[in-house]
Amino acid sequence: MMLGKKQLLINGEWRDASTGKTMPVVNPATEDVIAEVANASTEDVDAAVASARAAFDGPWSQISARERGRLLWKLGERLMEQADEVARLETLHNGKPIFESRQIEIPMSAECLQYFAGWADKVHGETVPVKGNALVYTRREPLGVVAAIVPWNFPLMLAVWKVAPALAMGNTVVLKPASQTPLTALALGQMALDVGFPPGVLNVITGGGATCGQAIVEHPGIDKIAFTGDTSTGKGIMRSAAETIKHVTLELGGKSPNIVFADADLEAAVRGATVGIFYGKGEVCAAGSRLLIEASIKDRFLEKVAARTKKMSVGDPMDPKTRFGALSSKTHFERVLGYVETAKREGATLLAGGARADIGTGKGYFMQPTVFGNVTVDMTIAREEIFGPVLAAIEFADVEDAIAKANNSIYGLAAGVWTKDVKKAHYVASKLKAGTVWVNTYNVYDTAMSFGGYKQSGFGREMGMHALDYYTQLKSVWVDLG
Ligand code: NAD
Repeated sequence: MMLGKKQLLINGEWRDASTGKTMPVVNPATEDVIAEVANASTEDVDAAVASARAAFDGPWSQISARERGRLLWKLGERLMEQADEVARLETLHNGKPIFESRQIEIPMSAECLQYFAGWADKVHGETVPVKGNALVYTRREPLGVVAAIVPWNFPLMLAVWKVAPALAMGNTVVLKPASQTPLTALALGQMALDVGFPPGVLNVITGGGATCGQAIVEHPGIDKIAFTGDTSTGKGIMRSAAETIKHVTLELGGKSPNIVFADADLEAAVRGATVGIFYGKGEVCAAGSRLLIEASIKDRFLEKVAARTKKMSVGDPMDPKTRFGALSSKTHFERVLGYVETAKREGATLLAGGARADIGTGKGYFMQPTVFGNVTVDMTIAREEIFGPVLAAIEFADVEDAIAKANNSIYGLAAGVWTKDVKKAHYVASKLKAGTVWVNTYNVYDTAMSFGGYKQSGFGREMGMHALDYYTQLKSVWVDLG
């Protein structure tokens, strides 16, 4: 199926890249090219930034906070009206099951738009008692032009996590989706126009990371970069953004520990261990990719995890019954399979999966959900983010050993703790160096709850009221009454 040629959305108009260049979009489940999108040049980035700046200084600043909220609310409504179509696009370019796109990602994105719609007119300054006779107050002002740069794993949702608070607080946006998954961000741009956002408030440009992305990061007309992606890309972005002292928030990689104590509800923990790693094909930044198991239950527990994993079937992402789809791209698929070989070479024991999966078409980047036992903390699969369906099981001796092993990572995005002991649960939660700790559950999110990293998983928070701090700046006004 060919979806045709897609253009850039700049200043409310759809246009080709200035160079006329395009990039193919591939369906990872069939390996077919499904669309051609514009490959934005530096000139296109300039035009998008100029349009966002003009909208920020002009029409967008004239619109009341309540009206901004109303527009965001309508955008959420429009997204749900078009949910079937948008979910189909999300599955086509990403390979995730249509069940996940339609029932989880799209509704969560709409909810996020409407959650931040509610905040638009509820963030304000304060009056402050100072010495002398003065009226002193603060104003919460928008930052200006925000660039949102997003990865390919939750292409629409991770865009909305940035676009919604940015627009709610009165900023304008240049959105750049990942080159593999540009279709739903472009659809969001059209929906924003349809519901009445003024031209230039939300611009969507597609292009390569090293070219278009880098041009955005270096652009002096951008006030803030909101980035989700790889830790190494994040480091480069921070360096480049330093030149013009841009605000930066980074949501980066993870190697999250999912800790199972012997006193846990083991059936629930088995489900939590598999959902923790295999939801979203393991292409989830917070995936519980390190399963830490208390030594006394290790063998019994791993047997159950392996058995449950072997029962999971990989299928056509467009089939509503499928729960495990195709990995997102050829390069990524090969990289993940490379980690399987490394794990075997380094002495880990393969307990389930470990190979390409075939759904009967002989095509597509399908991989079996994979579990490795006997993993030690120095092994590559215990240290590096694989970002795929590969679970590394490591044993621990006691509570302190579990905490030490869990924190033995450059990352600190999320963690899970499974125990029936309330004291132990809270103690371990307090000791884990992670932005989110789930107790007796895993991979649950709500737009009202902030999410973000510790350590090299980044800084800043998305979702929840704390996200708003990263899209405003504080002005202090002194009025002499003396
Ligand atoms: P990536 O860093 O390769 O790409 C992310 C985005 O950055 C893409 O839009 C890409 O085009 C762009 N980009 C690449 N190089 C750039 C540059 N030099 N300047 C500006 N932009 C550039 O990451 P990916 O492979 O698309 O995504 C996977 C990564 O994202 C994983 O590490 C994962 O853990 C992380 N992730 C983190 C979170 C979180 O919330 N912490 C959520 C999802 C994914």
